[in-house]
This record gives sequence, C-alpha cells and structure tokens, in this order.
Amino acid sequence: MTKKQREEIGLKYNSRCAYCGDELQHGWHIDHIEPIIRNWTKGTCQKPENDIVENYNPACPSCNIQKNNFTVEQFRAKIKQFINSLNLYSNQYKIAKKYGLVIETEIEVKFHFELLEK
Ligand SMILES: [Zn+2]
Repeated sequence: MTKKQREEIGLKYNSRCAYCGDELQHGWHIDHIEPIIRNWTKGTCQKPENDIVENYNPACPSCNIQKNNFTVEQFRAKIKQFINSLNLYSNQYKIAKKYGLVIETEIEVKFHFELLEK
C-alpha cells in the first residue's frame, strides 16, 4: 500500500475511526470490514478475497483490536456483551453503578460510519 492510499483511507470518515468516531491518531489501523481471518503463525488468511481497498475502514487501534476477525454485526454484539462482563467480573464497575456513577441503558450500538450515512 502506498502512503497516498493510506491517506485516502484515513480520510474516508474525516480522519475519524469508522467505529467509535474518535479522531485518528498516529499509528491508526486499517480494518477489514469483512474480515480476512488471519492465521498469524502460518502467515496466511482464510478470506484473501476480502483484502481489497473497498473493504478497508480506518480504525483506532482499540476498535480494530476488539473487532479482530469479526464482522460488523459480530463486533456490535461483542460490545453489547461488555456490560455483562463488567457486571460479572468488575467490582469497581458494580460499585460505580451502585453509587449512580454509571447508568446502563438499552441503546443500540451505532458505529460512527452508520451515523454519517443517515
Ligand atoms: Zn475506534
């Protein structure tokens, strides 16, 4: 990939992460919207046909690492599950919730690129 191609991908959503909408920082990642499912040890991927420019989204490292080999819908479901994990495993979260510092909602997870499409 050329520097110019990377710059164009970065500008796809006005230099913001396609998912959370944070401004892209140095070292931002290129996400495959439809995953290519890498096998890092073998250096191969299951879906090389998805490694095309049209399938690239700019993403902050945090979103890209969490999305991993997931589709957009799988990623959305994973984020919704974070609340369950916090309630199960984080005493700090549970205490913050008890004291009203955290309020859970049933809002749907919407990605930055979806909000821009509206
Ligand atoms: Zn992000």
